[in-house]
Amino acid sequence: MTARRTHTVTLIPGDGIGPEVTKAVVEVLEAAGRQTGVAFAWHSFAAGAEAFAQSGSYIPRELYDSIASTRVALKGPVTTPVGGGFASINVTLRKEFELYANFRPVKNLPGLATRYPGLDLIIVRENMEDLYAGLEHVVVPGVVQALKIITEKGSTRIARFAFNYARKHGRKKVHAIHKANIMKLSDGLFLSCCRKVHEEFPEVAYHEHIVDNTCMQLVMNPYQYDILLTENLYGDILSDLCSAFVGGLGLVPGANLGDACAIFEAVHGSAPDIAGKNLANPTALLQSAVLMLRHLDESEMADRVQAALEAVYTDGRHLTGDVGGRAGTQEFADAVVAALEALPAAS
Ligand code: ATP
Repeated sequence: MTARRTHTVTLIPGDGIGPEVTKAVVEVLEAAGRQTGVAFAWHSFAAGAEAFAQSGSYIPRELYDSIASTRVALKGPVTTPVGGGFASINVTLRKEFELYANFRPVKNLPGLATRYPGLDLIIVRENMEDLYAGLEHVVVPGVVQALKIITEKGSTRIARFAFNYARKHGRKKVHAIHKANIMKLSDGLFLSCCRKVHEEFPEVAYHEHIVDNTCMQLVMNPYQYDILLTENLYGDILSDLCSAFVGGLGLVPGANLGDACAIFEAVHGSAPDIAGKNLANPTALLQSAVLMLRHLDESEMADRVQAALEAVYTDGRHLTGDVGGRAGTQEFADAVVAALEALPAAS
């Protein structure tokens, strides 16, 4: 089918397993685009250490300019050095473009035996504040202070995002996750904002759970949750925990959403232990790309990619090692393209 529409998208392959999973996802999207009359103009940029080696800057000016003009990016993981080194590229981009909502659906894929079949929960994580403000300093040698920033504005808008999503998509419950028994002012403010926003959404049930109890409750019975509404750090930790319920970090997608721009990226990081070995599972980035297609109003294409992905999981012969298969990244991507071709023709 000849292309009827072209989407210009900023592409950040990233490092570690990023380039492998990005290549796989681009191949799938282009195959699906050929079937549905959608073309992509990819503006591809390095970021992080690789960009620094090339251009002397961790986030090149052209990358910022590209996102500002395309307003949508698909991003692989970019390594953040532990301890010293440069600031997180992920966090920097989220702040620069005010991507205040991190949306992470945790859902089982068919055919995968997991401990919690049929699980379908969503993490809505505040994406710009909290300990991620990066405000740390040495008070005196041997004493370091990190500032946890929680604002009424940030808490209110992430709560409104969660409740709006619940209303629009018929989700029943929102749990605000906190540690307000200890952090009475900061988490207390977060909770008071959530309660206030809830008053506008009486049809959505609202509960509050303490974060450590939430970890236990999640492992005992994750089905009790629908939408988890969290500050930044708790959301990061709970995302990795919840990814294990549906098969691991290789599967769970994410979207960083603001009022003007959106960056779609997997929950996982750069996984250096398996980088460059054709072992990485591209499903998490592919499901992030499905979220991107919905954001671009390409719902037919999104449905087709998701259906092809699910067909590969149902079939089970071309899965990667992290979910018990033997296929490499490329073989998995080829299987998704073949599954796309086996679907009925697009309208
Ligand atoms: P970050 O803090 O940067 O987000 P993380 O703590 O989420 O990173 P990762 O590097 O993403 O950690 O991954 C932890 C482990 O999970 C990896 O070492 C790897 O074994 C596994 N893993 C992550 N992503 C994938 C993937 N796409 N395919 C297969 N295994 C993966």
